[in-house]
Amino acid sequence: MAVLRFNALRETLNRKPVEVDEKVKRSVLFGENVFNENTMRQYLTKDAFKGVMNAIEHGTKIDRKIADQVAASMKDWALSKGVTHYTHWFQPLTGATAEKHDAFFETIGNGMAIEKFGGSQLVQQEPDASSFPNGGIRNTFEARGYTAWDPTSPAFIYGTTLSIPTIFVAYTGEALDNKTPLLRALHAVDSAATAVCKYFDKNVKKVTSSLGWEQEYFLIDSALVDSRPDITLTGRTLLGHSPAKGQQLDDHYFGSIPTRALNFMRDLETECMLLGIPVKTRHNEVAPNQFELAPIYEESNLAVDHNSLLMDVMGKVSARHHLKVLFHEKPFAGVNGSGKHNNWSLSTNTGINLLSPGKTPMSNLQFLTFFINTIKAVCDHEALLRAAIASASNDHRLGANEAPPAIISVFIGAQLTKVLNELESVTNGKLSPQEKTDLKLNVVGKIPDVLLDNTDRNRTSPFAFTGNKFEFRAVGSTANCAVPMTILNTIVAKQLKDFKVEVDKLINNKDLKKDEAIFNVLREYIKASKNILFEGNGYSDAWAKEAKKRGLSNNKTTPEALKVNISNKTIALYEEMKVMSKVEVEARHEIELEEYTMRIQIEGRVLGDIARNHVIPTAINYQNTLIKNVTGLKEIFGSSFKKTASDQMELIERISEHISGINTKVEFMINERKKANVLKGQKAAEAYCNKVRPYFDEIRYHCDKLELMIDDEQWPLTKYRELLFTR
Ligand code: ADP
Ligand code: MG
Repeated sequence: MAVLRFNALRETLNRKPVEVDEKVKRSVLFGENVFNENTMRQYLTKDAFKGVMNAIEHGTKIDRKIADQVAASMKDWALSKGVTHYTHWFQPLTGATAEKHDAFFETIGNGMAIEKFGGSQLVQQEPDASSFPNGGIRNTFEARGYTAWDPTSPAFIYGTTLSIPTIFVAYTGEALDNKTPLLRALHAVDSAATAVCKYFDKNVKKVTSSLGWEQEYFLIDSALVDSRPDITLTGRTLLGHSPAKGQQLDDHYFGSIPTRALNFMRDLETECMLLGIPVKTRHNEVAPNQFELAPIYEESNLAVDHNSLLMDVMGKVSARHHLKVLFHEKPFAGVNGSGKHNNWSLSTNTGINLLSPGKTPMSNLQFLTFFINTIKAVCDHEALLRAAIASASNDHRLGANEAPPAIISVFIGAQLTKVLNELESVTNGKLSPQEKTDLKLNVVGKIPDVLLDNTDRNRTSPFAFTGNKFEFRAVGSTANCAVPMTILNTIVAKQLKDFKVEVDKLINNKDLKKDEAIFNVLREYIKASKNILFEGNGYSDAWAKEAKKRGLSNNKTTPEALKVNISNKTIALYEEMKVMSKVEVEARHEIELEEYTMRIQIEGRVLGDIARNHVIPTAINYQNTLIKNVTGLKEIFGSSFKKTASDQMELIERISEHISGINTKVEFMINERKKANVLKGQKAAEAYCNKVRPYFDEIRYHCDKLELMIDDEQWPLTKYRELLFTR
């Protein structure tokens, strides 16, 4: 029975690192396979180039004539690189990416054929997409879905396929993907932020949201992963006793990268360079075989595409190295989990990072405006941000006592806390000349110096200000960043829009000067958002108690957390900011609940199967060996055998107890599943969460105990020690 495990181990131990040839400078490779601005300059006519650039910068429509020209050039470029197929590349609500390849090849009669790709194929496709989740939006009679070209994210070549990033919408116009709402949210934050920027600089025409993600992952030998049905089917181990040595020595973090892993990373980085993904940082993470990869930040839509693409490419490149990438937030119990920090900021077309303090008091007032408005947005919508990162797999991090807690709070550091405290006492209404000077010189004027000293970083905070950006740390490693980015940009857009209205009101009705009005409104925001600011240890019980007093939500499970997504307040927010309609919001909610239910359901099935078909038979086999041993002892020692065989007999009994423990608990779990399966939506998700899932730990407990008792030679499942420490 343990054959699979030992074969896998043997295979792993015999592996040689796959050599990676890296001779060309990375800067030369960068963007080589991307139809980017540089390539477009070479391949497009002047008109076509202008058309595409206008679409990228100002969102103007591309007419059919221009689209035809772009398509023809794209095809020429792709063919020159040996490409045979094209695909619309999109991100349906499965969280993954989707593609359906079509050949350029077309027959034209008389036994002849050509390569063809026109504007209509570039601009729009109609994939048979009835199997993608749609939350009831598409009735079968109008089951069509369209993909439409997103010119703001450049086409790229992967393998021999030209991939064109697209949105995916229903026949009736509703979004069926993650990109569409993101693009709408980015438009909303651009409009709102640009309007606010005009208080400070009339030349600002556009504000762009930036994202720099940090992707954590585990890298495990593929033979070992294949020997574990739980990892193969659910992405995580459902059982397994923790090894004698884990991460307690902290000897992996930032340690020297193992050769096999390093070769994989170099190979991956080359692919990323070709695809224009600007990866920059790589290092070991806290747990054994856990690593992190981070790029230079980019415009949010592009950064989201690049993260989705990267996750796909990582899977393909790792296969070449006989490795598997585990993106799951908690693949191993008792071992550090994986996240995906989302570093976020806003910047203007004039090159100013709005979350970076400037050199003059006025630019610092602009900084404070965006800084405080972001805090206020998070304060007003903390539950929604929690929902943005909710998933069955991320619950293992957020709900449990690890990584950021399920409570959203904002960390800003001691220095900025002091600045906010001072701003809080600004006079109501008109300011005296003395107060203005004082603010200018001593508060607003001092920020840059202050921030340089602000080195304290609270790693327990789910949403931290880190000098020139906010870092949303609670995002899960499997997440599609589009979801948290859509929500964050939407709430900030809404907040900035309200801010503008309030400031204008004070200027027009109360006759305040612009900066007086801004100070007045900011003062009120600081007072109103105190509850969200927290500088202490986010993992502590004391914080959970304090947060409850402050009225912050602490939704430990996905079914709880998701409720806010369909509240009237949320729907009104999305509709006002034109990010999603009520129908779209409700459809997404349904899909997320269903996904949660299915994930737990699958885990339950797999665990039941492994416990009964792998663990119990092994336990019985080993028990039989013991019984034979005891019988033998009885033959030799006669009536006094009980003394000599007492340990074995106790072991036999304990094995029986655990076997029966597993059998009963699996039976109970199956019963709960049956009850849950007749429920729908919220009720089904809650039943799976609260009635089915608790049995996982109980079943696991017995299995893990048996793992410690049974002869290592017979144990069928690759052990934690082997998964985590074999390289
Ligand atoms: P760490 O958070 O691990 O200390 P860094 O602060 O160097 O690491 O940055 C992490 C990520 O933040 C990188 O992807 C980086 O490109 C990104 N980043 C840096 N500045 C910004 C910014 N202004 N907006 C968005 N992301 C940024
Ligand atoms: Mg970070």
